[in-house]
Amino acid sequence: MSERNSNGRAISGQSNIGRREFIGAAVSGAVAATGALSGLGTKLSAAQSGREPYREEIHTPIAARYDVVVAGGGPSGVIAAVAAARSGADTLLVERYPFLGGNGTAGLMTCYNGFRNQRPPEALQTVKGIPAEYIAELVRLGGIADEDSYPKAKHDAAGGELPYCIGFDPEAAKVASLNLIRKEGVKLRLHSWIAGPMLDGCRVTGIIVESKSGRQAISADIVIDATGDGDIAARAGAPFMGPAQQGDRMDMSLMYRLGGVPASIKGSYDGIRIGDRVVRWGPGFGGDGLDAENLTRAEVECRLELWEEVQQIKKEPGMESVYLMQSATGIGVRETRRILGEYVVTEQDAIKGIHYPDVIAISSNPMPDYHGKRFFFEHEGFEIPYRSLVPKKIEGLVLTGRCISCEQAPFQSARSMAPAMAIGHASGCAAALSAKGQTPPRKLDVKSLQKLLLSQNAELRMSKRAT
Ligand SMILES: Cc1cc2nc3c(=O)[nH]c(=O)nc-3n(C[C@H](O)[C@H](O)[C@H](O)COP(=O)(O)OP(=O)(O)OC[C@H]3O[C@@H](n4cnc5c(N)ncnc54)[C@H](O)[C@@H]3O)c2cc1C
Repeated sequence: MSERNSNGRAISGQSNIGRREFIGAAVSGAVAATGALSGLGTKLSAAQSGREPYREEIHTPIAARYDVVVAGGGPSGVIAAVAAARSGADTLLVERYPFLGGNGTAGLMTCYNGFRNQRPPEALQTVKGIPAEYIAELVRLGGIADEDSYPKAKHDAAGGELPYCIGFDPEAAKVASLNLIRKEGVKLRLHSWIAGPMLDGCRVTGIIVESKSGRQAISADIVIDATGDGDIAARAGAPFMGPAQQGDRMDMSLMYRLGGVPASIKGSYDGIRIGDRVVRWGPGFGGDGLDAENLTRAEVECRLELWEEVQQIKKEPGMESVYLMQSATGIGVRETRRILGEYVVTEQDAIKGIHYPDVIAISSNPMPDYHGKRFFFEHEGFEIPYRSLVPKKIEGLVLTGRCISCEQAPFQSARSMAPAMAIGHASGCAAALSAKGQTPPRKLDVKSLQKLLLSQNAELRMSKRAT
């Protein structure tokens, strides 16, 4: 079993045509409403009719100031915030949802992959440090799954030796994230949509949030873009690479959790299992994961299809007790922007396992959909250089998680949640060093960063490196 190739699922059929018409009607509702207004005889200005952009004049109050603001509370952002705070920075973590964990919780993708290679050579645990502390907290909370569907060698997770992947309880993951940030003194702001960066020329000086409290600015010495999609960097004007337009582009999937899976079914039931509950990969959808209309279509199609899928499972002999316990808060978006950084990790760098002097993390996860196949590295992970966390053109900003600067093939590997957490560890330390030393991220002394990471037990494979 591998992470599912997301391209295989058909989304056609008679009933879907009806759904598409319904969705089309929904997304064109705003236009229809405008038409209705003019039907009443109201004369519309050019801006009201949508021919010209609507001009806003906004004066946004600055609500607070921090050394480091982490934009996005997914696996990478949570670890980045903990690392920044531990490294001495007054740190705020901002998240749109009312809980932390990103695609691991909101997306219900409950298996952290890539703590080491999935196949030999897999002796080296390539993700350690704060991500390993996070897993220890999950273990303490009893939040580890009984079974998952990824074949791997056995390692003692409870004893701190992490296997290739860790299946987990998403509710425990939310609590483990909160416990970690509270212990480290990270300030938290939930329910806050980050609308964009505060800018002084090409320097990011904070973020703008929209919430029930209104529109507010939060200033910072350094912002970490942990939105997954690189929202802050893109809006600041950083150049970026889009997803592969064809072939390898990774589609979206709606994850779901079945309850009432009978004990007579042995093993993982093709998912991540805790007792009678199994998280599984649901319907897939293609297209742009940054386009609200496409995302709306994806949610409607996939949710309707998923309901039918579960009704079919319930009809199988012995499966009457099964029910749809939960679907993901939002469809899981695998691939959007990769921000262009000072270095782009290439496909060949990853396959050959090139060593960089500015290594700050290692990704040993396989590339799950490499020209249609799961590609396993013959080495114990490729290195991520610090330069791939520093966006071109933009100052005051550090990248983390799945939007870092790399080609599509290494992206497939490093986007997995264990390497994303290791990258978060590095971005948090880098941001704290930058803020404390008033040094732009681009000019940061990488040796100091590596020293700090090693003092926090990160794995950089330094001992194996020729000096
Ligand atoms: C269907 C699917 C299956 C996958 N399977 C696996 C797997 O088996 N194992 C594995 O390890 N990985 C898997 N992945 C990959 C993995 O889940 C992601 O790549 C990973 O979560 C990336 O971490 P991140 O912290 O960079 O981003 P995310 O997890 O996406 O976190 C980003 C956070 O930022 C928040 N955010 C985003 N934009 C804004 C904004 N504008 N304002 C405020 N908050 C914002 C989001 O709400 C979210 O909490 C899968 C992904 C998908 C979609």
